[in-house]
Amino acid sequence: MIAIETLLQIFAFYFASLIGSFLNVVIYRMPKGLSVVKPRSSCPKCGHMIKWYENIPMLSYIFLKGKCSSCKTKIPISYPLVELFTGLVGLYLAPRNLSITELTYFAVYFSIACVFIAHIIIDIKHQLLPDKLNIYLLIIVLPYVIMHKPLNYWLVGGMIGFLGPLGVTLLFYKLRGVVGLGGGDIKLFGILGVLLGPIGVLNNIFTSCMVGSVVGVGLILSKKLGKDTPFAFGPYIIIVAAVQIYFPDIFDHFNLVSLK
Ligand SMILES: [Zn+2]
Repeated sequence: MIAIETLLQIFAFYFASLIGSFLNVVIYRMPKGLSVVKPRSSCPKCGHMIKWYENIPMLSYIFLKGKCSSCKTKIPISYPLVELFTGLVGLYLAPRNLSITELTYFAVYFSIACVFIAHIIIDIKHQLLPDKLNIYLLIIVLPYVIMHKPLNYWLVGGMIGFLGPLGVTLLFYKLRGVVGLGGGDIKLFGILGVLLGPIGVLNNIFTSCMVGSVVGVGLILSKKLGKDTPFAFGPYIIIVAAVQIYFPDIFDHFNLVSLK
């Protein structure tokens, strides 16, 4: 007999890798302003319609040897990697039983992770955090925090997360004439404030700015990044938020103020 917990883990991994396959579509189409549901996926080079058996997470990439079955164009390795990573996130968050609490927890926290994954890759590729993904994130987060947290947690958190970075960015623009954070970054901070609360979002702003600046300056010094090249800041915000949300114990070691 396989324990119900193991079955749920297998199912969560497989389900999550299917969602990962969908995230690849979102990552490819959303920045181009295309619909993420229609039409069905096809090879961008030759237009070959992807058959269902060519669309099995990770496995298809292996038996297609990483190439389109029709024109042999290479499929980016990022596709199976996104599927695998999303699958592992599903496995990590897998519900332990079929109770409403466990299933809700999985639905909410897995959905947040999906937005994070799409956001990070789109931002690295296009220096853009799409409004659509931010709105989707807010729709996931808001009902959950309203039910579980007091008003002064999520409302104040959201205001600090949005107005703080907005104020600093406007000030910088007035003083130096440079745009620091993009609109997408500021909106993301605001939504994370709703989820993480006032202390959590301050931790996030402080830590992600520190890490982002260190990496950014490092890249400029090592000439891997020109002074005026656009720099995606979203990944730092998201990686820090992911640690805060999914590994709160790790974050406690580096921070004076705990989320708990
Ligand atoms: Zn093709």
